[in-house]
Amino acid sequence: MKIIIATHNPGKRAELQRILAPLGVDVLLPSEAGIELTDVEETGSTFAENARLKALSGMRESGLPCVADDSGLCVDALGGRPGIYTARYGGEEMSYPDKMKKLLGELEGLEGDARNAHFISSICCVFPDGEEITAEGRCDGRIGTEISGSGGFGFDPVFCVGGRSFASLTAQEKDAVSHRGNALRLFAEKLEEARGGSDERQEGEI
Ligand code: IMP
Repeated sequence: MKIIIATHNPGKRAELQRILAPLGVDVLLPSEAGIELTDVEETGSTFAENARLKALSGMRESGLPCVADDSGLCVDALGGRPGIYTARYGGEEMSYPDKMKKLLGELEGLEGDARNAHFISSICCVFPDGEEITAEGRCDGRIGTEISGSGGFGFDPVFCVGGRSFASLTAQEKDAVSHRGNALRLFAEKLEEARGGSDERQEGEI
């Protein structure tokens, strides 16, 4: 089964592909399907609303099932910020090393639980027949005191679980505990259920 992924973020795409691949799902970038998707304005007030906006628009433009992830980092000491605005933290033009320095600066002087944070990933897949499958995952951790590790993407070098940053975990270690891993495992279960009940559908749909 082919599903278009509504993201320009190679980090997210890699995680979606490697977690969904065992299900026989071929997650394609729009460019790989020979199409270009319009950037969708994220006007929702929740991760789930924004994921749905992106998936619905991608399905309408491509005519194919389209999956989107909306995700972000919620920091307790910042009252849950940046949350749904994580990609815009510090301004869209700011580099990730600078965004992370800014975040470390905001938490300066805080120790232990005062640095608690979590990531959320909301997944939505919209199918041409109008069916939607949604799933959300969470990962609790802490903002480290320095940038650490060279793997992953985005805020991975400052988000720590069990004392290690996401960026210092292997891809498999991150997937096993991450918000996106948790969301996609739930999504995969729901997708399998939906496929089980859809023998009549055409190839390209579930
Ligand atoms: P979105 O594209 O609007 O969903 O923005 C997600 C934001 O959260 C971006 O700034 C990402 O870099 C960040 N983000 C989401 N998931 C992760 C992750 O697994 N690791 C690091 N940063 C992440």
